[in-house]
Amino acid sequence: MNERILIVEDEPGLLLTISDRLTSEGYNVESAETGHAGFKMVLEGLYDLIILDINLPGKNGFDICRDMRGKGINTPVLMLTARGEVIDRVLGLKLGADDYLTKPFEMIELLARIEALLRRNSNSKQQYSTEKGFHFADIYVDFEAAEVFKNGEKVELLAQEYRLLRYMIENRGKTVSREELLSDVWDYNSAPTTRTVDVHIAWLRQKLEPNPKHPRYLITVHRLGYKFISNP
Ligand code: CA
Repeated sequence: MNERILIVEDEPGLLLTISDRLTSEGYNVESAETGHAGFKMVLEGLYDLIILDINLPGKNGFDICRDMRGKGINTPVLMLTARGEVIDRVLGLKLGADDYLTKPFEMIELLARIEALLRRNSNSKQQYSTEKGFHFADIYVDFEAAEVFKNGEKVELLAQEYRLLRYMIENRGKTVSREELLSDVWDYNSAPTTRTVDVHIAWLRQKLEPNPKHPRYLITVHRLGYKFISNP
């Protein structure tokens, strides 16, 4: 699978140059031009690498880097700094950036840094084999503690609700049938029915959805089952 790279950069010309080049190198590229839009995408946790400019409208690169690390998102970050700003480089690395590149730079140099970071990350993935948590909307699911937070406040979930939520998140973007959920999430000895799935989905919606009657994240797929969408 192609590696996914997010570029957060507010200079349209530079953004276009980088994204065209990375796309032609076979990377899957997405971009954001403001700090807030970029941070929202970072929280999806779907990227293999983030290229992050420092001076951005809304939320700067330092804040994005610090906040994502604070939430346990360990995606490698390559920071773009302006020429001669030594302070920026030091601060960036301190706040959790993995590498930096000074503007203006050669594309070949950028590509080399990207490859090095991706390689380093795939080596370390063997030690940290799973995601630590997942963000969507104002929800954070902490996979290590098996806890869920909404707006920073802990949400009490039944063990089965948690297992269902985690399964949906791990299969995000994919329609899963009730039968699949029963066999993968439920213990067959408890002899549940597809109705059990519907009830648990409804409970999760009550606890997590902004408007449970019109779910945005835990979606019903007519006649087929359910789908979790993290970025509706
Ligand atoms: Ca900028």
